[in-house]
Amino acid sequence: MSQEKIDALRKQVDEINLQLLQLINRRAALVQEIGNEKEKQGINRFDPEREREMLNLLVEHNEGPFNDNTIRHLFKQIFKVSLELQDDEKKRVLLVSRQKKSEDTVIQVKGVEFGGKAPILIAGPCSVESYEQVKEVAENHVKRGLRVLRGGAYKPRTSPYDFQGLGVEGLEILKRIGDEYNLVTISEIVSPNDIELATQYIDVIQIGARNMQNFELLKAAGRVNHPILLKRGLSATIEEFIYAAEYILSEGNTQVMLCERGIRTYEKATRNTLDISAVPLLKQETHLPVFVDVTHSTGRRDLLLPTAKAGFAVGADGVMIEVHPDPDVALSDAKQQVTIPQFNEIVDELLKSGLYKTEAL
Ligand code: PEP
Ligand code: MN
Repeated sequence: MSQEKIDALRKQVDEINLQLLQLINRRAALVQEIGNEKEKQGINRFDPEREREMLNLLVEHNEGPFNDNTIRHLFKQIFKVSLELQDDEKKRVLLVSRQKKSEDTVIQVKGVEFGGKAPILIAGPCSVESYEQVKEVAENHVKRGLRVLRGGAYKPRTSPYDFQGLGVEGLEILKRIGDEYNLVTISEIVSPNDIELATQYIDVIQIGARNMQNFELLKAAGRVNHPILLKRGLSATIEEFIYAAEYILSEGNTQVMLCERGIRTYEKATRNTLDISAVPLLKQETHLPVFVDVTHSTGRRDLLLPTAKAGFAVGADGVMIEVHPDPDVALSDAKQQVTIPQFNEIVDELLKSGLYKTEAL
């Protein structure tokens, strides 16, 4: 076959492609019109009988060279994408999505920017145990130019016989320390009934991994005008995590930040598996600040520094680390909290790496 002949045939193929393109789009527009009409009448859009009739008609008129099965397969594909087209149109644009709001959400609390230009460190003991214990950590924060102090007052423990937290007394300690040292305080709330109360004591309400899909708690968090730090569930997919955040925004509260804290996998070398790719993914998909908890994800002191660096390197807005004046006698997470000197070494290394800068006002 001469080259001219091939070129001429290719030209015809191109023309037919363009005709097909026009035809399938015209077909899609008609299917959409039918779909809208059906919706008005409250009829289901998917009609298997109608599909069967269309396929029969096509096969009846099929003169080849495609065989009947290929024709069925091709047209089933066209039917399927036409139905999906309508679903796509209906898919809600989530309030948390970049599509809805392209610019980053920045949450300002007592002069600290969560999700702002500079990433931050959130640090403090696993549990609030006493005023003196939290005070020691707070004093070190001030020395090191840190502004955000965490500490659990309500502890969702695996065993009901383990320390459950000081409750309101713990919140009172955080309030006092926050005021005395001008620190932003974060603490977990586990009951929808305590959300409103918590706004009087702490600056950021944490919703923990075990409660990521506690929808009543999420809705209660959505009804206050107070920053919320939502942690990823133990086995939650990114999609489930995003929808959990959407619950809060859908009730009106836009001050939401996310925290990747490791997920359950078969790996036993670490407490959980830190899903580092969740950070850039969540930054792409949502406009919310994203943090990495290196303590609960790794459960290992020796991995805190490298994973913190990794978190900053992939664009996290901050890293969470647990630090305790005397971890050996801590009432929770004794194994993985670091001492204040160990914590300061991590801070020094992070400063040296250039990935993190001090937050002092
Ligand atoms: C915590 O941060 O105190 C905590 C319990 O973490 P998580 O909910 O991620 O397990
Ligand atoms: Mn802990």
